[in-house]
Amino acid sequence: MDFGYTPEQEAFRNEVRSWLEANQPPPLSREEKQRLTDDLLWERGKAWHTKLYEGGWAGISWPKKYGGRGASLIEQVIFGQELARLNLPVGINVLGIIMTGPALMQWGTEQQKDRYLNKILRAEEIWCEGLSEPGAGSDLSSIQTRADLQGDHFVLNGQKIWTTHAHRAHFCQLFVRTDFHAPKHKGLSCLLVDMKSPGVTVKPLRQITGEAEFNEIFFEDTRVPRENLLGPLNGGWQVLISTLMHERVGIGETLGASQQTLAELVELAKAMELEGRPAIEDTAVRQQLAQFAIEAAAKKYNGMRSLTSRLKGLPPGPEASISKLVATELTQRMVKFATNLLGQYALLEQRSALAPSGAWLLRILGCESLTIAGGTTAVQKNMIGERVLQLPRG
Ligand SMILES: Cc1cc2nc3c(=O)[nH]c(=O)nc-3n(C[C@H](O)[C@H](O)[C@H](O)COP(=O)(O)OP(=O)(O)OC[C@H]3O[C@@H](n4cnc5c(N)ncnc54)[C@H](O)[C@@H]3O)c2cc1C
Repeated sequence: MDFGYTPEQEAFRNEVRSWLEANQPPPLSREEKQRLTDDLLWERGKAWHTKLYEGGWAGISWPKKYGGRGASLIEQVIFGQELARLNLPVGINVLGIIMTGPALMQWGTEQQKDRYLNKILRAEEIWCEGLSEPGAGSDLSSIQTRADLQGDHFVLNGQKIWTTHAHRAHFCQLFVRTDFHAPKHKGLSCLLVDMKSPGVTVKPLRQITGEAEFNEIFFEDTRVPRENLLGPLNGGWQVLISTLMHERVGIGETLGASQQTLAELVELAKAMELEGRPAIEDTAVRQQLAQFAIEAAAKKYNGMRSLTSRLKGLPPGPEASISKLVATELTQRMVKFATNLLGQYALLEQRSALAPSGAWLLRILGCESLTIAGGTTAVQKNMIGERVLQLPRG
């Protein structure tokens, strides 16, 4: 493992840094804060995404043919580090970019790649991921949404749940059962479903944060052209596993912003008072911050280990579970620690004029979901135990 960066990589970092500093979106104005809605944040995210795409920064390691930069994974990582340094968002269509895009590159026909990839990267077509169902979350081999092949179309019936951004999505990467007689893992397929198809109903689910980011989707005799099959018929389990590996890598990378959250905590500890003194002077606070710093550094080096194997051309393996597990748990503990520093201010919404900057209430309420989304902590531990440490199945 090489911890250093080459002169070319450092030059790339400087280029990224200058571009981001010159083009970063302005902070929310007081007026915008007061009328803060999901739609307003989405529109801001879209404008930022377009700027990133046009600047050539939306898919750094994606092939140029599909609108990417054609650079290596290391440039992608450097870009992520610089984005986190300025605490900037990644843009929109994140699931399309970290999950469907890589799955299409791995499993898609040339026709499918040409049809979808560029529009994903531009965020011209938004994608959602239809995996979970009321009876299939951690155990996705239990998926029951059915797709019956009738001539040149599949006919869909069933329900998905917790589908992030389904209400904004143009397409869904949907996992369905196409063979009810085969063993559970051998009867699944992956379909690319147009969300405007007749028979698709999306119902929003409101979360504790007040946002309605995810949804239920119902399919009733929805027809999907056979050409929208991604990967082999009844071979959807392999597509699913690789899509989830890409998701874990993506979550590990986007939450690779632990250093940034730590920097924000340090700033908060300087700004808030504890027993009449700046909280940063309190021994217990300092010890906790130091502990977070140690864990964030360990996480970074573990991430480099996994990065090294991917730079050697290996696909993301089960070790991606380590990044997902550590990144989400650490971020969750750091965000919760902010309540100790904020005291009563932890209760204030971002729109309040007295709220310290950082949208802490939203983050405190929302952080519980980090260790559920993308596979729960218990499931990641099973993966690490069985597939990394080769322990016997429990
Ligand atoms: C913010 C958010 C966004 C999401 N977005 C999407 C999305 O876009 N698309 C999508 O398809 N899904 C999405 N999900 C759903 C998510 O993938 C599931 O919630 C998750 O996989 C867990 O499944 P479940 O909720 O059915 O819980 P269950 O699988 O029922 O698990 C319940 C509990 O049992 C534990 N458990 C289950 N199996 C085991 C085991 N074998 N060993 C030990 N413990 C176990 C779990 O850890 C958990 O604590 C999202 C979830 C969240 C929170």
